[in-house]
Amino acid sequence: MNQWMNVSNTIKCTLEHFDFRSCYNLALETWNNMYDESLFMDDKSLRPNERKVRNELVNNKQDWQYELSARVLQLAVHDLAQGWRNFFNPQMPNHRQPRFKSKKRSRNTFTTDRAQVINSRLRLDRPHGCTSWYDIRMAEPLRWIGKLKIATIVEEADGYYVALAVEVDDSVAVKSGHVVTGVDANIARFDYRNATGYQSVSTMTAKLLRLYERIIHYQRLLARKRLANPSHFRSHNYRATRYKLQRDYQKVTRIQMDLLHKFTHQLVQANDVIAIEDLDNLHMRMNQRLAKNLHRSLFGRFKEIMQYKCAWTGVKLVMADRFYPSTQRCSQCSFVKTGADRIALDGNRRHHTGHDQYVCYQCGASMRRDQNAVENLIHYAMIN
Ligand SMILES: [Zn+2]
Repeated sequence: MNQWMNVSNTIKCTLEHFDFRSCYNLALETWNNMYDESLFMDDKSLRPNERKVRNELVNNKQDWQYELSARVLQLAVHDLAQGWRNFFNPQMPNHRQPRFKSKKRSRNTFTTDRAQVINSRLRLDRPHGCTSWYDIRMAEPLRWIGKLKIATIVEEADGYYVALAVEVDDSVAVKSGHVVTGVDANIARFDYRNATGYQSVSTMTAKLLRLYERIIHYQRLLARKRLANPSHFRSHNYRATRYKLQRDYQKVTRIQMDLLHKFTHQLVQANDVIAIEDLDNLHMRMNQRLAKNLHRSLFGRFKEIMQYKCAWTGVKLVMADRFYPSTQRCSQCSFVKTGADRIALDGNRRHHTGHDQYVCYQCGASMRRDQNAVENLIHYAMIN
């Protein structure tokens, strides 16, 4: 279980003892050097791995590293090794090669596995050379009882936050499998069916749309400033505008996550089996015109959250594969539209049907397009 809270008031002074970025960059440099050497000597036994890089760095510690927490270096090397493993994993084709973390681009963050919660304060591991050390006040007490595994501190637009991973007993009661629903992901909303009928949840509320407008506005301002003077980013004015932009991005993320968590929570509470579409969002995002709206429709994050929440609560998640014709199939007689009869995003030109209408040419059934899709997904969950 994860908990996320603000710890800005007291964290700043301890940050210099957890310089994750420098350690990571040092590890990457060592890794690359070792690899180059193995190529040069044409000897595969010289190839770098996690243990070799860590030993090399620990044996040649530099002065500034003695001021750091002992775990920072270890975890940085571990992260880097995981990054390389993911990069070479054929099942993760989109994973990029590990690269140096820059001050500008990377998030300011570090992880430690030696944090403790004592008297509802967070205690990070004290570096050897450091004499004064204090516990950090937390915005709220720990929500779960269990062993604290990992604490990750992240700098956000308005301060510092900590994510605490707590190990809890994960015995899951298996659900009966009687209540089935399907969730149809659309641009700007999710459609599903519950005990009282068809429901839909909007992912583009008026407030979000207002924030998107403001983000565009601030981005234009910043671009104009950069164009006028390339070294403008040092000015107070530039940084103030960038702060406003970051704050709006943060607001957007918070609203979206709140919306998604509430929606997925009530889905897994009320149902035993849930069918969703396994949309290929990376492929769909290639379409320039749709990209922004798809991204804002939260498909990817919805799928991710559903996967872990269903595993937590014992709900069976059925993923309709991406070629299942949930839009083209008639939920009444299972006729599938093909060729010129297919409905596109704007309906069907040949039969003059609207974009939210489904009319079956086989049995004559007429219904709303999303309701038909939801029914099809429920059908898919039943037969799988
Ligand atoms: Zn039909």
